[in-house]
Amino acid sequence: PQASVADPATELTRRGAVMAAAQEKYYERPPQIERGWRDLLIDTRGRSYVDMVNNVAVIGHSHPRFTRAVSDQLALLNTNSRFLYSALADLCERIVEKSPDPSLDTVLLVNSGSEAVDLALRLARIHTGRGNVVALREGYHGWTMASDAVSTSAFDNPYAAASRPGWVHIADVPNAYRGTHRGAGAAAEYAADLARLLDDPSGPGVDLAAFISEPVLGNAGGIVPPAGYLSRVYEHIRARGGLCIADEVQVGYGRLGSHFWGSAQQGVVPDIITVAKAMGNGYPLGAVLTRRDIAESLAREGNFFSSAGGSPVSCVAGLAVLDVIRDEALQQNADAVGRHLAGRLAELAARHPMIGKVHGMGLYQGVELVRDRDTREPATSETAAICERMLELGVIVQPASERQNVLKIKPPLCLSRESADFFVDRLDEVLQGGW
Ligand code: PMP
Repeated sequence: PQASVADPATELTRRGAVMAAAQEKYYERPPQIERGWRDLLIDTRGRSYVDMVNNVAVIGHSHPRFTRAVSDQLALLNTNSRFLYSALADLCERIVEKSPDPSLDTVLLVNSGSEAVDLALRLARIHTGRGNVVALREGYHGWTMASDAVSTSAFDNPYAAASRPGWVHIADVPNAYRGTHRGAGAAAEYAADLARLLDDPSGPGVDLAAFISEPVLGNAGGIVPPAGYLSRVYEHIRARGGLCIADEVQVGYGRLGSHFWGSAQQGVVPDIITVAKAMGNGYPLGAVLTRRDIAESLAREGNFFSSAGGSPVSCVAGLAVLDVIRDEALQQNADAVGRHLAGRLAELAARHPMIGKVHGMGLYQGVELVRDRDTREPATSETAAICERMLELGVIVQPASERQNVLKIKPPLCLSRESADFFVDRLDEVLQGGW
């Protein structure tokens, strides 16, 4: 297919005329992207960029097997899930096969991560008959009313604090690099702080419905919580009758390499898992994976129905993604290329004092840039300038975290070793002062 080619300045003006300012864009002068192929994005001039940010296109851009499966199904049937068709049960069975624990055996299909989080919160509140939810600082969980209410990132939503509903309670972010607790006891200290918050007389412990977090903190910059943190927190929550929700929208689905789920990497079994993004490789698809007794409690509020959630096309899209992840060993690739990348970034950190810390694992990593390794002053403006320069050199990479001083690395899981090296070599050049 031929894409329409317009001058990028004209595109920016057209975009501004019809879209709200709050609808973000990458870069001051974004490239006009015409097509994608595997881990590359290609602009209207034919220039290719290594794509280090698209965690949605998990099997790679324009995957022929995915494209064919979705187009064939579109030509056959696309209706809603109130009929019987095998793709619906096939996809749910395949998700349950991937379940981190036999107790998580029931799937609800929706169209996005925000919807999955919204539904997870609703399930927890109906099932427990309680109201309070604890979320971690610096988190992002979506844009719907409920998922936004538990999105605590001051960067993503600076005005949310003023309007946050009373049922949302915020616990400290367990960041052992620059957070409140940094030493060997950090996991126990952060968990003890959270227990104190729960038991505060005006705290959430009494009417507690749920705790929600990403198991590895993607939005905060790819931060892996200190070992043992999440298991302690889940114990505290369950001891007070709450449910534990793991938002796996970013870090689940094989991205961490060693584990399919972030919660498994942390050694915990959630009561509810939310997934989206990777699940449809860009086709709108999300899911909640939970225990049957929790899913059944939804019936107390009537039926659950989403018009396009679980449609034949979304199910076929979801199945094609899981087939490709399995047949092309993409989780294993995330592990191997992720380790290679981590090794090369560690070597870069030994030469460039600006790299304060490399967070994450597999193909979710974060390169935290600082002005001073002792004070850890965030190199925010430098990070933005480095991203702009990396674009000129053929790499798409973006800032993350509250301080926007972390280069977020969350490419398609088919990222090749050559592309990883291309990224590190360009970063090496740029850190030598080339921005
Ligand atoms: N949870 C997490 C952890 C996310 O990163 C996002 C999206 N960035 C969402 C939920 C919301 O997903 P969506 O944009 O598909 O609604």
